[in-house]
Amino acid sequence: MTVTAETSIFEEVNQFVNQASEYLNLDNGMREILCCSWRELTVQLPVRMDNGEVRVFTGYRIQHNGARGPYKGGIRYHPQARLDEVRALASLMTWKTALMDIPFGGAKGGIQCNPKELSNEELNRLTRRYTLAIEHFIGTHRDIPAPDLGTNAQTMAWLMDAYGQIYGHSPAIVTGKPVELGGSLGREAATGRGCVYTLAEAAKDFGLNIQGARVVIQGFGQVGSWAALQFEEMGSTIIGVGDVGGAICCQSGIDIAKLLDHVKEAQTVAGFPGCDQITNKELLELECDVLVPAAIEKVIHRGNADKIKTRILLEAANHPTTPEADQILNDRGVAILPDILANGGGVTVSYFEWTQNLQQFRWDEKRVNDELRKVMTRAYRSVRNLALKKGMTFREVAFIIGVQRVARAIELRGFV
Ligand code: NAD
Repeated sequence: MTVTAETSIFEEVNQFVNQASEYLNLDNGMREILCCSWRELTVQLPVRMDNGEVRVFTGYRIQHNGARGPYKGGIRYHPQARLDEVRALASLMTWKTALMDIPFGGAKGGIQCNPKELSNEELNRLTRRYTLAIEHFIGTHRDIPAPDLGTNAQTMAWLMDAYGQIYGHSPAIVTGKPVELGGSLGREAATGRGCVYTLAEAAKDFGLNIQGARVVIQGFGQVGSWAALQFEEMGSTIIGVGDVGGAICCQSGIDIAKLLDHVKEAQTVAGFPGCDQITNKELLELECDVLVPAAIEKVIHRGNADKIKTRILLEAANHPTTPEADQILNDRGVAILPDILANGGGVTVSYFEWTQNLQQFRWDEKRVNDELRKVMTRAYRSVRNLALKKGMTFREVAFIIGVQRVARAIELRGFV
């Protein structure tokens, strides 16, 4: 398939799935199962706004594949949360949970809205309306949402509360909750931390010294800010950070704790004193050792792939690189740690949270982080070993491992 600028994200993800299916010699029926969602729900969400008017939002919950366990995936609040995008993200969750080897399937949800333009009360009402619209679709052993772009622990608390009003107290219905309500210690940091654990393993193979490595991060939300803190703790120098409001660069290093204080006030990294103010385009093209896209999809595409000057691309965001850009970067020798591997730490600690909720037993943070490191290291090594053996890229191999595990589960269950 030729991929054009207009190609849907879902088609792009399916390109990787099809490549893996081809390698595994899967039959056409199996390929069709793997390239479609199992169930898709679109819902209308009327919400009374603070000014008394009613606004109608559109929401989605897509269950892509549940052969390996209950559906699992985040909910995003974003103006561009469209069906195609949510489908693609649900599919990525299927391959990610399989690659991490945790007993979940893949799902994703979304509401088309700009959370920054809504008050806390409006967000609460919107989340409750969404929960009522999908309540029959989710469940503690059926489909377990989590935060994603534009949502957070507070959103999960509202969702848990609305669900609990129907089914009784059910903390295991969501992960990424506030710790006071049964959230796991270490969950907030888990995606960023997992990315850095993966990089730490890869660094040994690529001869990179993390101490002193020059790092650029696009996105300074839940994932990007925790990744930045973790990199800083390991002695790396963060030379560039960007978000939706702009980007900053400082070759001698950015103090992340001070940047977090600035963002609390300014709501953006832009304007942080002592740094050059640059554009997000310039940010991605900075010369560095590790580039971490931690914002939205398709930020690295055929228009900028030949200008990316990093040694390692650590994909903290989902699908930040189009297949065309992936090819260009591979040809140029950039090492790519693909999304379904690099950002798998979030869903891994979500799995730990769910387990703790079912057992009604809390782990301490050290145990969470130690177990997370084990899972990330195991996943990285399985990808690295097969990539070396077969002479393939990490992305190709990550999809092969994920697709093979899901196809095997479908066969074993006698589903078809
Ligand atoms: P978030 O909403 O907390 O933060 C998103 C950040 O990206 C913000 O700093 C925002 O300003 C920035 N951003 C948004 N649009 C941008 C643009 N056009 N240009 C530059 N920056 C932009 O979201 P998050 O939870 O940190 O998620 C970030 C990415 O990581 C997403 O792709 C998400 O799917 C992925 N991810 C998140 C988790 C998780 O646990 N939260 C887990 C796995 C993957």
